[in-house]
Order: sequence, then C-alpha cells, then structure tokens
Amino acid sequence: MRTRRNEDGSPATKERFTERLAKVALHEVAHTFMLYHCDDPQCLMHFSPRIGHLDIVVLAFCDRCEFVLRENVFQLYLHPRELRR
Ligand SMILES: [Zn+2]
Ligand SMILES: [Zn+2]
Repeated sequence: MRTRRNEDGSPATKERFTERLAKVALHEVAHTFMLYHCDDPQCLMHFSPRIGHLDIVVLAFCDRCEFVLRENVFQLYLHPRELRR
C-alpha cells in the first residue's frame, strides 16, 4: 500500500501523521518550558532534520528531560507571576 511508505515523501497513514504531529507538538511545547535538545535518540527532545526519525522517537521524554520538564512546569505553576512578562 502506497500510504505506508514514508521515507520517500509519500503520504503517511492518518495514524502515523497524527503520531508525528503529537511528537512535534510536544517537542515544541517542551521548548517553551526551557527544554533543549537531547542526545538520547529515542527522546522527544532529540532533534533530527529527517522526518523518518520521528518514527524512531517514542512518544515520551527520557528520564533527564522528563525531570527538567516536571521541574519547569512545577516552577511555572508555583511562581506564575515571576515568569510572566
Ligand atoms: Zn527542537
Ligand atoms: Zn531527553
């Protein structure tokens, strides 16, 4: 089936598209929480310019990134006024 091929730029399945979108969205949201790119190739914060890499990344942060994200989200809710400009 044509729609199952992705590396060559052909359309992905709806599920795969949604999964990739979720990964990109979470990655971008995490940047707004002051997370930076990660060396763990399976981590959501790992950066790769290849679209195919998104299928290697799991829909989760590695332990280090999750810890930083939790800390930053916690700080944001604890001191919302300090971060607001
Ligand atoms: Zn990024
Ligand atoms: Zn990470």
